[in-house]
This record gives sequence, structure tokens and C-alpha cells, in this order.
Amino acid sequence: MKIGKNALTVLERRYLKKDEHGENIETVEQMFRRVADAIASADAAYSGKAGVAALSNRFYEMMTNLEFLPNSPTLMNAGKELGQLSACFVLPVGDSMEEIFEAIKQAALIHKSGGGTGFSFSRLRAAGATVRSTGGVASGPVSFMRVFNMATEAVKQGGTRRGANMGILRIDHPDILEFIDCKKNNADITNFNISVGITEEFMQAVQQGNAYELVDPKTKQAVGQLDAREVFDKIVESAWRNGEPGIIFLDRLNRDNVVPSQGEIESTNPCGEQPLLPYESCNLGSINLVNMLKCENGAYAVDYDKLGRTVRDAVHFLDNVIDVNKYPLAEIDVTTKQTRKIGLGVMGWSDMLAYLGVPYNSDEAVALARRVMEFITKTGRAESAELAKVRGAFPLFEKSIYAGGTPLRNATVTTIAPTGTLSIIAGCSSGVEPVFAYVFIRNVMDGTEMIEVNPVLKEILEARGLYSDGLMKKIAAEGSLQHIEEIPADIRRVFVCSHDVSPLYHTKMQAAFQQFTDNAVSKTVNFKHDATIDDVREVYMLSYELGCKGVTIYRDGSRGSQVLNIGSVK
Ligand code: UDP
Repeated sequence: MKIGKNALTVLERRYLKKDEHGENIETVEQMFRRVADAIASADAAYSGKAGVAALSNRFYEMMTNLEFLPNSPTLMNAGKELGQLSACFVLPVGDSMEEIFEAIKQAALIHKSGGGTGFSFSRLRAAGATVRSTGGVASGPVSFMRVFNMATEAVKQGGTRRGANMGILRIDHPDILEFIDCKKNNADITNFNISVGITEEFMQAVQQGNAYELVDPKTKQAVGQLDAREVFDKIVESAWRNGEPGIIFLDRLNRDNVVPSQGEIESTNPCGEQPLLPYESCNLGSINLVNMLKCENGAYAVDYDKLGRTVRDAVHFLDNVIDVNKYPLAEIDVTTKQTRKIGLGVMGWSDMLAYLGVPYNSDEAVALARRVMEFITKTGRAESAELAKVRGAFPLFEKSIYAGGTPLRNATVTTIAPTGTLSIIAGCSSGVEPVFAYVFIRNVMDGTEMIEVNPVLKEILEARGLYSDGLMKKIAAEGSLQHIEEIPADIRRVFVCSHDVSPLYHTKMQAAFQQFTDNAVSKTVNFKHDATIDDVREVYMLSYELGCKGVTIYRDGSRGSQVLNIGSVK
């Protein structure tokens, strides 16, 4: 199996099975075999044991060829005692001490197993409201979020990976202004991403310059008014300052709520790509688009036959995950199996565009995004319908928006995940993001420098006889290829990095993928450090106009420490 050095480091540290002394007791190949066997075994319940070994081989091939990878918890936990396989959960937070601390306990159990949790705090009464049993006053959603945050901090030491949270508050909650500001200090509430839950009514008030009403979550009575534009500006300014809060469009999440009879969707998972009902979980998986290309007469093209086969096997795989998963709570087991949501997505999009010679920031790339994602969602649904013939539709199918149509095994099929770790394992660009920087210089401890070059760029420069360490250092220092004249213009045109792509094209790309994705798209719209508040406002409005389900932005250098830096030596 071809696996990169960084990939091996990540796998050895967290993914490979260990003995009681912490020593790895499996190889990378054995890990994929463990996962393939565990997931294929679910077929025995439907079509007998005869086909399980062959299916396991297919799953094994697809993973070891780096064509498809399931989300991290599946790689870490399948075929092991813990057996918790999902990355995404949403938990309800009710307006009582019992319910609040129950949610904290449930989240701790999920974090321990490598899953991330999303919560809406909108049901909690406002700060200052009366507490009947004590005669005291309530401390409000933001103060309880701090408790959730501390619990996450404590659990993260012993868990499989850092627990992540999403915190959402509706725009009409009386504490909304405090919420917008709650991460003003970069050291605060660091285990949460926060998003304001925006309604259609609010967006209309912004467009018309009207006031809107704040509503008491308990009585549903209006308790005040705010100027919609002022609040919108406050959100935008705060996001410009340090990237938070993001926004999510609640009415759009609920327009695509497949089973409205089960209640409203009020939150997503931590990175925003997976809207879920309370107690639902979802397992994700991503196809590496770099390995879905064919080369004909020296030119690359998308291999739709191979992509179609991979989508079908991936949907089969993810549906099986639901069966073999060991859920951290009985409620989650029941709720998840009623809708059987899965989230198949892609990674390596930017690298694939480079092979195709299409710049990320072009309308051709945006059109191709639609074509590829439409194909994946259509093929994925077709496979879900095939599975339903043998296994039955998801139990709430007749109550769903699809009732009366072709039975489906899964209420949703597609989601675009960030693929933070999966893309390292596969050695490709993450999710549908542009490449952040094509060359990094790493300082190794003994003072030597290690040059890390994006594999697609390396291949193309080498083929043209242009590759040199000196040139790589120049690219690393500049952060972009765009102003390096010794690189031919046709290469510079295609190898655009995140900061070469305008916020407009970042947003257009997100919208293109969203149009054909059942759930949502994980995407950060990157701004240069000198971007203005108006630039950010424009993107927030544009994401609304183009049909995105939410938006997250980040302005370079706007947080004290950030994971990736451009134009600097790491
Ligand atoms: N996630 C988490 N903690 C992490 C990273 C991810 O809980 O440190 C969850 C979160 O719900 C996120 C989802 O996993 O939205 C998918 O993230 P990603 O695609 O980056 O995960 P990968 O499978 O690549 O590890």
C-alpha cells in the first residue's frame, strides 16, 4: 500500500490498535482489514454469510487504494470493543438543571469515543429570568456553554481525539447579543464553534431595514425588539474580528428535514456539514477524487464509471456502519436507526482540478462541481434504493417527504465533510477546499529543513524539468505561485491557493456543491488579512442569496494562533 510519511505518523499515533503498554499491534493493512471485516459482517443479516468475505475484500481494496475512507471513528473503532463509529451527533438541551447536566454527561461519553456534538441552546431561558424552584435568577445559555466547554476540556485528555462542539442560538433568543460576543476573547470557549441560527423572517427584516422580535423561549411571547441590520452588522463585525460566529439558515435546514413529523432540526454537528434531529447520529465517508481520474492520450478526465462503482460500494459500506455501530446511548441507537442518515462526500477536489487543468476560481470549476456532485448524489440514492429492496426502507420512510416514491434505505445520502485527518491519510487536498499552501518548509528538531510539496504540483514541475529546492523555498516564502515569473503562466493559472481565490469564488464553490448535497457542505471562506468588514458582509449576504445552508469565514491572522500560516516558515 502507498502511504505517505505524515499519514503513517497520524495512523501510528491514534488509529492503529495498541496493546496495554501503548505499543502498536497492527499494521496499516491490518487496520484496513479489521475495518473491512467488521463493516462487511453486517451483510450476513440480510443476504447470508456467503458473500461477506468477497464484500470485505471490496471494502479493503477501496480503502487501501485510497479511493474511499470512512470517518475517523470508524477507522479507529471498528472491530474493537468500543465500536463507536460515527463522527456526528446532535443532543437536545432542555431548560432544566437535570436536562442541562444530562446533556453534558452524554456529550462526554460521545467525545470519549471520538465523536463530535452539536447543541442548540435556544430552549434555555434568558439570563436574568426567574428560577421558580429557588426564587433565584437563571444564568442563561452562554454561562452554561462555558460549563459544556470545561467538561470537554477535561475529557479530551483521555479520549481518542479532541472533542469538538457546535453551539447554536436562535437569532430571536433574548441573549443573542451576548452570544454573538461570547468568543470575542480568543482564549474563551475554545472547544466550541458557534453559529447564529438565522430565520427567513430575520433575513427579510435585514433586507428591508426593519426591527424584529426577541421571543421568550418558554412563553413564546415577544419580550423585546432589535434592529435587524444592527444585529446582522454585529455578527459580521465579530466574524471579521476572529471568524466567529458563523451563521446557519435554520429554515433551509428544515426545508430539507426529511421527517418533519419528528420535530425541528435545530443544530448541526461541530463543523456544520451535518444537520441532525436531537439524538440522531451520522457516519460520514469521503471519496478521494484524485483517484477517480483516467488518463487518455495524455489528458486527464473524470472516470465516471469508476466513480459510480465507488459511490455504490461506499453507500453500501456506510449503511452497514449503522448496523455494526455500538451507540453511546440507547436513545441515539433508536433515533439513528429510524432515519438511517449517511453522509458520503468528497476530498481531493482541488487536486483533481489541478490534474484536469481547471483553475479552482473559474466558472468551469463551479460547473464541474455541480456535475460531479449531482452524479454522486443521484448514484448514491440509486444504491440506497437498491439496498431498500433487500433490507427495507428506513423505518420512517412512509412519514417522510419521500413517502409514496421509490423506497430509500437512507433518509440522506450525501454530506461534504472537512476531511481534516482523512485527507492527510489519503495524501490529497481536504474536502472541497482549495489548497492552503502548495509548499511548506518544516523545521525538524536538529535544525534541518524539510520541504513538503503538494504531490500534484511536484509531479507537474518534475515532468517539465522545473523542480528545484530553490524554487520550492521561494514558493513557501511567498505563499503563492502567482508572482513567481520563472513558473510558466499555464501552471500558475491552475495552481491557485486559498488566498488567490476570491471570497466570491469560495462562496460560489460552496453553493455549487450544496445544490446537489442532501445535508450540508463544510467550507471556510478565506479572506486576506486586509479584508474589510464590508467584504465579510458581502459574503454573508451572498451565501444567503446563492442557497448555502450556512457560512463560516476566516480572515488570515485574525486569531492569535492558527493551524496554518501562509508565507511563513512553519
Ligand atoms: N470531529 C470531532 N473532533 C475532531 C475532528 C472532527 O469531533 O477533532 C467530528 C466533527 O463532527 C466533524 C466531523 O468529525 O464535523 C468530521 O470532521 P473531519 O472530516 O475533519 O474528520 P476526519 O474523519 O477527517 O477525521
